[in-house]
Amino acid sequence: MSVIKCNCEKCKIYLHESKIHYSVFCGCEDCRQAGEWGHSKGGPLPEKLQKLIYVRSDIKEVEGKKYMHAYQLRSNARSTRIYCKECYSIIGIDHINYKDTVFMLIPQLCKTDLDLSIKQVAAIFMNDYPYKDISMIGEDVFFMRDFKDENINHKYNTLMRPLRPEYKKPKGISFIQLIKEVDGVTVLNLKQGQKILNS
Ligand SMILES: [Zn+2]
Ligand SMILES: [Zn+2]
Repeated sequence: MSVIKCNCEKCKIYLHESKIHYSVFCGCEDCRQAGEWGHSKGGPLPEKLQKLIYVRSDIKEVEGKKYMHAYQLRSNARSTRIYCKECYSIIGIDHINYKDTVFMLIPQLCKTDLDLSIKQVAAIFMNDYPYKDISMIGEDVFFMRDFKDENINHKYNTLMRPLRPEYKKPKGISFIQLIKEVDGVTVLNLKQGQKILNS
């Protein structure tokens, strides 16, 4: 049974399924601000270009719920993240597009025994990526600056469709259900364009 833990190990999410359905690089501001905000509170240092992985939203068991807290970056947020309020790891992220089928995590910002050998299929929101270094992106990775070009969006969806799992009623609780059961949601009201770390 796979587990996602915070760095201080007070929070644990045990999963019904150990499969990572897909992984992407994400250059978006929200992923960066959320990681930087956690780091500013003592949490792990995010990678410049973050690797996101997606697992089925079906949680078998939760430990340390009282240490979990749900946050959103802004009042119009589409993502909700659960942090450990002791160590500020991020142990899971919901986005309204996930529709309770999957949830996302960033292995750099927590601990997990999931098999992380999966390769990233795409690099998305690269227009928002503020650094020069893209050496981590292999040639076989689908490179997306934004989601504004219909043809490129179509290619992206063709690539991703077979990787996205079908919705299944969870055997345990879903990640959205977990968000409802923990403290929060606290809205951080971070400004768009605001840098949190000076690196
Ligand atoms: Zn912790
Ligand atoms: Zn992102």
